[in-house]
Formats: sequence, structure tokens, C-alpha cells
Amino acid sequence: MRTYHNNSNDKKRRIDRKKLTYSLLLAFSVIAVAVIITLSLTLGRPAPAIETPAPPPDPIVDVDVPPVEDPKPAFVMPMENFTVGKPASLDRLVYSSSMKYWKTHNGIDFLAEAGTTVFAVSAGTVTAVQNTVLEAMVITIDHGNGLFSYYKGLNETVAVNVGDAVEAGAAIGTVAANMPLERDEGPHLHLEMKQDGKFVDPADYLPAFAEK
Ligand SMILES: [Zn+2]
Repeated sequence: MRTYHNNSNDKKRRIDRKKLTYSLLLAFSVIAVAVIITLSLTLGRPAPAIETPAPPPDPIVDVDVPPVEDPKPAFVMPMENFTVGKPASLDRLVYSSSMKYWKTHNGIDFLAEAGTTVFAVSAGTVTAVQNTVLEAMVITIDHGNGLFSYYKGLNETVAVNVGDAVEAGAAIGTVAANMPLERDEGPHLHLEMKQDGKFVDPADYLPAFAEK
């Protein structure tokens, strides 16, 4: 007996099986590729860094803090050209030939021709302009922080008024022909300075003296 296969049916079945195999293979391939990609992504990735606590934030620096002001303001000489006459002698009496007695000399004498321009030695505010008998015209400048400068032996015509703000080196007046209290020295600026009400030697502040 001979069995007749339906050839076309057989063929169809074979094709179906083939299709199924291909489908399965394809499915496996897709899964395999997916697994490989996943694994490679997982394994290839560097191990997660051990969580280290964040460093403490930098101490807060307030950049808006203004720079610390120089406790000693800038000073300039009170004249362009001068000869130093009597230096300050705050603790020791010196003889005054003009007054014929011994006294302290509370400032520095800057000898110059009458009419020589006198400058403020540092920035400040004019607090007094006085016409005196013995010291001629006197200008007082407050430099702040308890420091004052006094310009004695000036001509009556001055360049500043009480309340004026002046810069270091501002022209404030001119040397008078005569300062009765120290007339024997001829025309000169007698410059005094006080810190907290006490006389101080201008030589400790003025640049020409500090350089020496
Ligand atoms: Zn003097």
C-alpha cells in the first residue's frame, strides 16, 4: 500500500516549520542582543562612586567689606621749596630770641619767601581761620581720628574758609612777611600738629622727614 502524501501539504508544513524556526531564532537573537546590550551597559559602566560627603562649603567671605583704611593718611609737604628752620622741640625748652625767653617749640619752621604758597599736609576739613596778633593768620585743619594741623604765620588773605574740605596738597594760604612771635626767623610757616590734643612732631608724619 502506498501512501500518498499530499505533497503540497507537506511542503506547506515544512515551510511553516521553517518560518517558526526563523521566528524563534529571530526572537532569540533579539533577546540575546538585548541581553548583551543590557549586560554591556551594566557591566561596562564604571562602578558607582562611593558617596563621599560633600566638602563643607567655603567659609563665607564677604567681598563687599571695604578695604581697611590706612590708619595713617597720606601726607605731603606744606611747601614746594623751603629751608627747615627751627625743628620741633616739644619736651625741651629752646630760647626764643624773638620773645627773649625759653619755651618749647611746638612745631617746625619752614623758611621761605613771603608769599610762598602753603599746602594742606593731608586731607581734612578746615575748622578755624584766625587772624592773630602774635602768630599772624592761623589755619586749623582737622584730619580726622584726632589729628589736627595748624598753619601759623600766614598772610591775611587765605584760600579757604571754615568748613571747607581740602585734599592733601591743597593751597590754603601764603607765607606772611612777618610772624611777630618768631619775627627773628624772617618769613616762615610755623606748622604744628596735634594728636588727641597733644602736640606731635610734624617730622613724624611728613614724607621729607620720614625719608631721612
Ligand atoms: Zn616756629
